[in-house]
Amino acid sequence: PQLINQIAAGEVVDRPASVIKELLENSLDAGADRIELDIEQGGQRLMRIRDNGSGIPREELALALSRHATSKIASLDDLEQVRSLGFRGEALPSIASVSRLTITSCTAGEAAGWRLRGDGREQFTTPEPAAHPQGTTVEVRDLFFNVPARRKFLRTERTEYQHIEEVVRRLALSRFDVAVRMNHNGKAQFDLRRADSAEAQGQRVAAVCSEAFLNQSSLMEHEGAGLRLWGWLGAPTFSRAQADQQYFYVNGRMVRDKLVSHAVRLAYQDVLYHGRHPAFVLFLEMDPAGVDVNAHPAKAEVRFRDSRLVHDYLHRTLKEAIAGARA
Ligand code: ADP
Ligand code: MG
Repeated sequence: PQLINQIAAGEVVDRPASVIKELLENSLDAGADRIELDIEQGGQRLMRIRDNGSGIPREELALALSRHATSKIASLDDLEQVRSLGFRGEALPSIASVSRLTITSCTAGEAAGWRLRGDGREQFTTPEPAAHPQGTTVEVRDLFFNVPARRKFLRTERTEYQHIEEVVRRLALSRFDVAVRMNHNGKAQFDLRRADSAEAQGQRVAAVCSEAFLNQSSLMEHEGAGLRLWGWLGAPTFSRAQADQQYFYVNGRMVRDKLVSHAVRLAYQDVLYHGRHPAFVLFLEMDPAGVDVNAHPAKAEVRFRDSRLVHDYLHRTLKEAIAGARA
């Protein structure tokens, strides 16, 4: 079974950033509104993520680390309408099979928490009491210490860290209501307070993207055809660096989707920005029944029920907004 976990880990966890993605999603699913990350050596040495979510009761701690144990889906009906980010019950066991993992958790009303440790083998320690405020801390040390073949594929500390940072950026822009702090090698990288007002949201965009992006972008909002689109439209430049700053969310989920990209590109082209790299942070909100956000979780692709409508709406609305911002 541990071999199965390690093989599954190959799909779920290919580098430190994918561990961070899974752990962040778990924290959000647990309703956390404050998440703190400590990273050492690009995540290979240590990734610690602490949240103030619901916590895991003592008797469920071991279960959380066993395969296909998810607390999020009870039936096939549930699967039809998953709202949580994770639902396969694969992430924690996979991560635990390729690292030294410690999980400490405390639920509401408990005086203290409980801790479990694993060392990459199937057996975990029995829960021992541990001081912890309500929420969960997952500590992942020495990723791939027992899988040399995977370790070899890790890039430099800097590269791995940059991948982590990108994952955290995407989260930070998707959830203005969640405070996020991150240290790398003891140095503060992000310290983002909850952003309730439009101004605070702008500040977060500046902190996450750049001051320059915020200054040269315009805020847009539009509603029509049962869709709502809002966010920051950057003025395109020739700078390649900006090509990375393309954040598009559908119902709160970051997507990289062909249909979306095509509509956005077309809109910018129509206003004569050929050859430049647009930067944007955009949010599309729509009836969840009209979109399947789990079509391809790993690739972040979505499937729209009425793709023509969505494409045309995006194209038209963005074109007007870009032209308006330019005038
Ligand atoms: P999934 O997210 O697909 O359910 P995971 O392996 O990521 O599977 O997590 C297994 C279970 O552990 C979750 O269903 C949840 O009950 C619990 N869990 C994991 N992380 C947290 C967390 N940060 N806070 C509360 N519960 C958690
Ligand atoms: Mg999960």
